[in-house]
Amino acid sequence: MTVAADLFALQETDFALDSALARLEEIESQLGESEELTSARGWLEAATEHLRQLKSTQSDFEFEADEVRAKVGTVEARLYGGEVTDSRELSDLDADLKSIKNNLQTREDSLLTSLEQTEEGEAAVAQAQAILSDIEARWKAGQSQLQAEKADLEPEIERLRAVREEQSAAADRAALSLYDILRNRRDGSAVATVERGMCQGCRITLPRNIIQKARNPGALVQCVSCERILVFV
Ligand SMILES: [Zn+2]
Repeated sequence: MTVAADLFALQETDFALDSALARLEEIESQLGESEELTSARGWLEAATEHLRQLKSTQSDFEFEADEVRAKVGTVEARLYGGEVTDSRELSDLDADLKSIKNNLQTREDSLLTSLEQTEEGEAAVAQAQAILSDIEARWKAGQSQLQAEKADLEPEIERLRAVREEQSAAADRAALSLYDILRNRRDGSAVATVERGMCQGCRITLPRNIIQKARNPGALVQCVSCERILVFV
């Protein structure tokens, strides 16, 4: 292999390593609870809390209605029981009964409204639960896919690092330091292939003498425009 070809091989390893590391970083940022999942949990919690309040209100109304119903029973028993005979007292009891029954009607209307609200609250909880289950199932599947990909990627990164180690140990020192400088300066791409007389790094047509020099296996020739190390593959 020529010096430039050695560097080109090293660059292929670096490209593969860079993209594997970028993918690993992306995977790691996606592991863990997603925002969608957190919000769905929040919705379910809020709906559950709202339902709890509705049920508590409903049970207050039930208790109050039971109390008023019991009062109706007591007054009716006195009114129709035959024990009370005084007409004034009977007329008072009758007025009482009417007022208590009106009160009962109001309580029962409130209870009915409350029962409807509880039903709606239950439907909202069921819906939030269904949405959460759906999101959770998709999230779990996604997470295990990411974990599997991570498990494949980590040894691949180790392998590429070992390859890189070997390639850079074998490479010419001066060539390697030029490679590192250009790699930093040219966004990771220090070596460019020559095709049809053109530098594939910047697409300029190279002067003939440069092409001839670059064909020399021991030479390290740079593009006159982008400075990348030229290689024939
Ligand atoms: Zn160039």
